[in-house]
Amino acid sequence: MSYVIKGETGDWEVVIGLEVHAQVIAKSKLFSGASADFGAGPNTQVSFIDAGMPGMLPVINEHCVAQAVRTGLGLKAKINQRSVFARKNYFYADMPQGYQISQYDMPIVGEGMLILDMPDGGTRAIGIERLHLEQDAGKSIHDMHASSSLIDLNRSGVALMEIVSKPDLRTPEEAGIYLKKLRSILRYLGTCDGNMEEGSLRCDANVSVRPVGSVDLRTRCEIKNVNSVRFVMEAIAYEAQRHVDVYESGGAIAQETRLFDANKGETRTMRSKEMAHDYRYFPDPDLLPLEFDDAYVAKIKATLPELPDDKKARFITDYGLNAYDAGVLVADQDNAAYFEAVAKGRDAKLANNWVSSNVFAVLNARNVPITESPVSAKHLGRLLDLISDNTLSSRMAKDVFEIMIETGKDPESIVEAGGMKQITDTGAIEAAIDQVVAQNADKVAQYRAGKVQIMGWFVGQVMKATQGKASPALCSELLTKKLAP
Ligand code: MN
Repeated sequence: MSYVIKGETGDWEVVIGLEVHAQVIAKSKLFSGASADFGAGPNTQVSFIDAGMPGMLPVINEHCVAQAVRTGLGLKAKINQRSVFARKNYFYADMPQGYQISQYDMPIVGEGMLILDMPDGGTRAIGIERLHLEQDAGKSIHDMHASSSLIDLNRSGVALMEIVSKPDLRTPEEAGIYLKKLRSILRYLGTCDGNMEEGSLRCDANVSVRPVGSVDLRTRCEIKNVNSVRFVMEAIAYEAQRHVDVYESGGAIAQETRLFDANKGETRTMRSKEMAHDYRYFPDPDLLPLEFDDAYVAKIKATLPELPDDKKARFITDYGLNAYDAGVLVADQDNAAYFEAVAKGRDAKLANNWVSSNVFAVLNARNVPITESPVSAKHLGRLLDLISDNTLSSRMAKDVFEIMIETGKDPESIVEAGGMKQITDTGAIEAAIDQVVAQNADKVAQYRAGKVQIMGWFVGQVMKATQGKASPALCSELLTKKLAP
């Protein structure tokens, strides 16, 4: 997939790295026992630590550590058995400590890798630079009071994993695929719910451009806190074009932090970019270095589920699916489980067609997840059985499926109640054929004179005479015999 921005002076390529803040699924915060649940009344989940009261000491939440290790393993990354928490100093009204406890030069997780599933069925490996643990800030609310800003500290101290990619992404589309894949892995692992609207997954995009063929990195700009996959892609496309325009007109790009305005579809300056040294990082004296051994990592590793890449490979081998179809199914764990329940012991390609087109269409129309599908995997499987044993033609199966959606009933009782069985009795079909042949001597003559394309018309007539219940395959077989000159 190539993505080139054409300029007056030549072609430009885009260099993108993503920093994702993923909220850890945990009952309590990273360094306090206050609840980390979303949606509670303002300032109801705040301990003295989260409020930055003097003299309060942080205590590490071991579950959050395990979640970070688990995520690192899921990203095939190096787990650092010794890591250090550091204070990142800056003032923000919603950060009462005056610093954020984060990790700096010794993060809990080092280099790893994420595989992109490309639309053409191919893959691309994107490097992961690191994953570190840090606390979230509170929330400033500017639109609820005429002259003041309000502060909600419920989020203050909630555990985040900051996952940093290498600048390996080359197109806005790849950035979107990366984000969706990362979200899928986090959900499989159960370490982050990936809900971008609630802010439990937030993305910063670092963007720069360079002439095609050049290997040097130019000055990048960071677009902060974009809250949907589509907006991340739009923001990157806009920002890359802006860089090209600036360079082409002889200007220079200043390193800065920018905001994406989703309504206008453009980015604008937020502040000039801080350098690491601006934060005066130093090891947090209230916390010991974080240390664990091989056995601890091995214990977590033993509990990992089958992850999307492995599941995809297995679906290709076990079910004969192509890479693209397998990738679509495994992106969501529940979708994959539903497919397997339908496909096991049946024609897997037929199962994939029904799940990926008919079932997904219903879910999209109703905007519900597959766990709330009006047609259960068990019922869909039995519908496919009725197709395989010739009780239903595929056209009749679609009708039964429609009734299953509306009523939630199993396919057998719908077939029984509606007398919808396909006619496979040759005698009954032959009787219908004889009738059609007798009434259309002119058409029969045409067919016998060589106009074989009217066979479709004959099949249609016989179907009509049997109220659509005749087996279409049997119809054309018997008709061909009957009409032979
Ligand atoms: Mn961060």
